Amino acid sequence: MADLTITRVDTCILDVPLIRPHGFATTTAVAQPILLVTVVTEAGVQGYGEGVVPGGPWWGGESVETMKAIIDGYLAPVMIGRQLNELAGILADFEKVVANDRFAKAACDVAIHDAWARSLGIPVRDLLGGAVRDKIDVTWALGVLPLDEAVAEIEERIADYGHRSFKLKMGSGDPAVDTQRLVDLAAAVGNKVSLRIDINARWDRLTALHYLPRLADAGFDLFEQPTPAHDYHTLREITQRVGVPVMADESVCSPADVLKVIEMQAADVVALKTTKLGGLRESMKAAAIAEAAGLACHGATSLEGPFGTAASLHFACATPAVSYGSELFGPLLLRESYTTADLVYADGTVTLPEGPGLGLEPDWDKINHFTRK
Ligand SMILES: [Mg+2]
Repeated sequence: MADLTITRVDTCILDVPLIRPHGFATTTAVAQPILLVTVVTEAGVQGYGEGVVPGGPWWGGESVETMKAIIDGYLAPVMIGRQLNELAGILADFEKVVANDRFAKAACDVAIHDAWARSLGIPVRDLLGGAVRDKIDVTWALGVLPLDEAVAEIEERIADYGHRSFKLKMGSGDPAVDTQRLVDLAAAVGNKVSLRIDINARWDRLTALHYLPRLADAGFDLFEQPTPAHDYHTLREITQRVGVPVMADESVCSPADVLKVIEMQAADVVALKTTKLGGLRESMKAAAIAEAAGLACHGATSLEGPFGTAASLHFACATPAVSYGSELFGPLLLRESYTTADLVYADGTVTLPEGPGLGLEPDWDKINHFTRK
């Protein structure tokens, strides 16, 4: 078998323009910074992973700049000289030198999975147990937009890509104004699609209990993380009182957090992101805990580019517990990609790519073009 020794770990920051500005609760992104991590083996095989946070360090404290420093200075030295099939040991050793920083660790975990699968000539999903589905539903997420632009974007996505489910961002403005904007949007779009809301942990308990019932009456069918990440009691109260499924996102950044949601009965669904959880192995653990408790999992995103999205797609398609669809639309938000072929989006779904590893090949001209100088 080919020599699996890791000889080099390269990192470069890409700034990839978006098709439109993407407004979050606290910031607006016009380009997505992506840390591309390349793991190179003695046999010359390369594997790719992406360090990506949604729109900067506001979500979890990490940024592409911190990830580059942590990987170059601390995680790469743990990997170099080790075998790809020592992944579990490498990840355990990461914990000895770097606390937290799960987005940075995720990029390394994915790059090792990719290089390992390519070395074996198999797709990454086969390292995760094999595919249980070959495609998954994709919810399209809108940034914070004026009503007419939001309605136009929803109608365009339905026509062009067959999306059946849309997520709206809230939490950036006055809650009364924000709520009215979305009530009007629901009335304009009607009930032909599923409409969800992500408040990104920005509301307090009383605000959530006051406005979420109005949004439920307007037809919204999922509320994502209305209140702060650490407050599982309030999340449980909302889950019990509002009568619409509640999804935990910021509250779930580790397998232990999934266990806490279960113990507290704090949510109906958990958003699993291979990024915030620290990679594919940690995501499999989180999903196993959820599955044992009958807790639904959603294949969520940090707006990864093609490699990161492909990794999340292999995970979602190899994991029966990811029964609540996905929002793996990251590459569709990029004006240009940097792989030789794109993931295939159609009929509101994204399809698992064929080929070894993640199933995508880098386009180095594009990567060089987007690399931050
Ligand atoms: Mg979210």
